[in-house]
Amino acid sequence: MSIQPIRLFGDPVLVTPAANVVDFDKELRNLVADLTETMLEAPGAGLAAPQIGVSLRVFVWDVDDELGHLINPTLDLSDELQDGEEGCLSFPDLRYPTPRAMRVVAKGFNMHGDPIRVEGSELLARAIQHETDHLDGIVFIDRLSTADRKLAMKEIRESEWFGSAIANGTSPVIKVSPHFTNGLGN
Ligand code: ZN
Repeated sequence: MSIQPIRLFGDPVLVTPAANVVDFDKELRNLVADLTETMLEAPGAGLAAPQIGVSLRVFVWDVDDELGHLINPTLDLSDELQDGEEGCLSFPDLRYPTPRAMRVVAKGFNMHGDPIRVEGSELLARAIQHETDHLDGIVFIDRLSTADRKLAMKEIRESEWFGSAIANGTSPVIKVSPHFTNGLGN
């Protein structure tokens, strides 16, 4: 297990849809371990594989002192929404009100290839939606109101981390992901 560098907004891997996991092997278990360790060290409430540069449909979470992971997820969302602020390890220090479904039923697999079902509300539901978005190349600023997204973009452009990413040549132009966001954030 090892802590991996977290990719920051501007890295193309964050706006690229990730591939389904096919082999439930030792490499996958190592990936889940690396994600968990990197998330705990950050610390954060969740981390998706693309955030450490691995374009596979895998994420982990740490919500209410419970660790979890999910592979190849599909989500059923409640019509009821929740309000609340959200942040992301790939956007240091940014927090914005982000609408999400209040409840989620997620189906997928654990790292051993067993089918699992995870039900969550509030924070867990928010984390699962946020991380599943990462697997579709969607980042949380895509979900913001138009006004908040403008503010977020300005804050990103002025941030030290984004400036140094550009200086290091790791960050292309700012571009939000082109993916469909179910009417949220548009
Ligand atoms: Zn995130």
